[in-house]
Amino acid sequence: MNYQQIYLDLIQKFPDFEIHQNHPLAPYTTLKIGGPADIFIHTKNNFQFKTILQYLSKNSDFAPLLQGGIKGGLVILGNGSNVLISDSGIRGIVIKNSSQKIDILPGKTTSSVTNKISAHRTENDPINYLNFAKIDYDEGSSPKIKVKMTSGTLLPFAINYLFNQGITGLQWFAYIPGTIGGAIWYNLHGGSRHFSDYLQTITVFNFKTNQIEKLDAQKIDWDYDNSHFQKNPHLIILNATFNLYQGDTDRARQTAAAWILQKSKVQPMNSAGSIFQNPPLEICQKIWGEQKSTGWIIDHELNLKGTKSGQAEIGPQHANIFTNNGNATAKDFLNLINLVQNKAKEKLNLNLTPEIKLIGDH
Ligand SMILES: Cc1cc2nc3c(=O)[nH]c(=O)nc-3n(C[C@H](O)[C@H](O)[C@H](O)COP(=O)(O)OP(=O)(O)OC[C@H]3O[C@@H](n4cnc5c(N)ncnc54)[C@H](O)[C@@H]3O)c2cc1C
Repeated sequence: MNYQQIYLDLIQKFPDFEIHQNHPLAPYTTLKIGGPADIFIHTKNNFQFKTILQYLSKNSDFAPLLQGGIKGGLVILGNGSNVLISDSGIRGIVIKNSSQKIDILPGKTTSSVTNKISAHRTENDPINYLNFAKIDYDEGSSPKIKVKMTSGTLLPFAINYLFNQGITGLQWFAYIPGTIGGAIWYNLHGGSRHFSDYLQTITVFNFKTNQIEKLDAQKIDWDYDNSHFQKNPHLIILNATFNLYQGDTDRARQTAAAWILQKSKVQPMNSAGSIFQNPPLEICQKIWGEQKSTGWIIDHELNLKGTKSGQAEIGPQHANIFTNNGNATAKDFLNLINLVQNKAKEKLNLNLTPEIKLIGDH
């Protein structure tokens, strides 16, 4: 079976769903870059998302095409704020997940992930970059409350919605335009806080077993910009429960506002957040004797701040944030990524790892 036949089958089976063929992906990313998907399905709620995943995985005609998960014929898009999709697009099925629902649950919370992750988040120039220490505080003694959110829920919406219900805890992640699914997949960081610090359970659709399964957040691996889900692309995140706080909403709102003010100066929305991870502390110690951020390295060691390729630019404010200044292509972005990686290797013998996810044939 080919994608044309799958498309015809899907529109017949699901006439009420939004399904397109040869559909451009650029509008579904913050970079506004990316060619077409063979098949594009926009699921608007959890029922549609679950139904389509179940149908695709159970249908023996399609399943072999999709088993490569994210690398093969099936890609899940949240808000597209951490991806660089190739100019030729994606040969396969893309599901854009807009399942947005928040439930405040009765009952007791349990503890969330206890292993604190070393965040490598130090900024070496907090005056010009970001100063998380200035806004950080501990609200661990506030009463806890359990909240469930579906994976397509937008983080900025969730943070404000929860503040209005008297619930705090996610203020560190203000100004991040991702969904709950993308945030879990990446184990999002807000300053030195990680998303896994707040997670209790994650419900997934398992493409190998065709079952919905609930995972205990304490029992799976989390790291800086890394999660169990990156190693297991057959697990699609449906929803999650969080341990949050009945905390001081005035303080949390002020914290979110202060963080938004700092971030908006250096991280414009026509970007995909940080392009590279910060190098591990032990490597930085060997070269500089202390932790350095990639923004500082690109700026002070490689002198590449402001460098352009077509309409892609190495951030003039923050050198680890590359922007699309108009009609940049994925190739323009890759030129800049390669330039930085090659120069870091040549000058410092340093391997920089992309934080952004490259999707499609680059
Ligand atoms: C202005 C700006 C500021 C940012 N600031 C930060 C920051 O402070 N910290 C930070 O960590 N990041 C930051 N980012 C990057 C980005 O917003 C986050 O990484 C975010 O979590 C990505 O979520 P998303 O929904 O957009 O994911 P997408 O970009 O849509 O997808 C990212 C990956 O997650 C996978 N995925 C998405 N949903 C699911 C699902 N339901 N099941 C399985 N896999 C899934 C996708 O297949 C893809 O591989 C920033 C980006 C921008 C543009």
